[in-house]
Amino acid sequence: MKPWFVVGLSCFAFFSTMSTATATEVGFKVTLLGTASPQARPTRFGPSTLVEAGGQTLLFDAGRGVPTRMGQLKIPLGKIDVLFITHYHSDHVSGIPDVWLTGWLGSPANRRKAPFHVIGPTGAKNLMTNLEKAYALDINIREVDEKLSPEAIALDVEEFAKDGVVYEKDGVKVIAFEVDHGDVIKPAYGYRIEYDGHAAVISGDTRYNQNVIKYGTGVDLLIHEVAIAKPELMSAPFAQAIIAHHTSPHDAGRVFTQAKPKLAAYTHLVFLSNEKVTEATLDDVLAQTRETYSGPLEIGEDLTSFEIGETVAVHRFKP
Ligand SMILES: [Zn+2]
Ligand SMILES: [Zn+2]
Repeated sequence: MKPWFVVGLSCFAFFSTMSTATATEVGFKVTLLGTASPQARPTRFGPSTLVEAGGQTLLFDAGRGVPTRMGQLKIPLGKIDVLFITHYHSDHVSGIPDVWLTGWLGSPANRRKAPFHVIGPTGAKNLMTNLEKAYALDINIREVDEKLSPEAIALDVEEFAKDGVVYEKDGVKVIAFEVDHGDVIKPAYGYRIEYDGHAAVISGDTRYNQNVIKYGTGVDLLIHEVAIAKPELMSAPFAQAIIAHHTSPHDAGRVFTQAKPKLAAYTHLVFLSNEKVTEATLDDVLAQTRETYSGPLEIGEDLTSFEIGETVAVHRFKP
């Protein structure tokens, strides 16, 4: 899929004026690792977004396939400094044991050296403590057999229960804000990441929500979830229930029009179907967004990345 808008520098111009190493070490880059929802797809892995800022490597959610996508980027799992969790739906957390345990392995240079740092809303400690119990046998075996570091498989888990700064280090600030994923799907949060006078917002899973607009107003990059079903599917109770927990393209456009980000981008694309009604298309998503929003927009694919500076440069992954 071609981008509809490319804001700022082209890939060629960017790399001709700046080395990749410099961009990685001191820049601000957001990469969509997985852009799907629970349904497995060959081209879209589970929800996960990588943020590289000021030399730090931050992961937001860990759906299925994170190690594969990180491998394509040639970034070792052991380089992840912090994992942030938006909410506890399985598609957002099912990849955590893979990230945690596999990041402990590999060559000494690539392995995680410090405890696995997790920051999430209330529930993170319960999840991680129980994963530790579930994988105790593997951990014990590898500590004895491979002499792997007990410190680097240990957990450092922080929880929060309201909007506010949840992480601040060396000029990188992460702010959590509550979103509305439905009456019983709580807690559910989005994140705003600030670095070097710039900001990116990840909506998390949410319905149309004023808090996304509040924290997303004027940001460089606003990454939003979206869900769509053909009208003839909307008589099915399962479709009504799922759509009620997410944001339609029409409503996401309303969010973008009010927040006015430099660039809006979709991730976590929910396409519903059943035996009789096929999925809507990306063109449908675009057309329905354009009912309410005329600004810069990208429909994310796995490994679409955004270099944030004075402009936002979009790169589609080419192996
Ligand atoms: Zn989800
Ligand atoms: Zn969810």
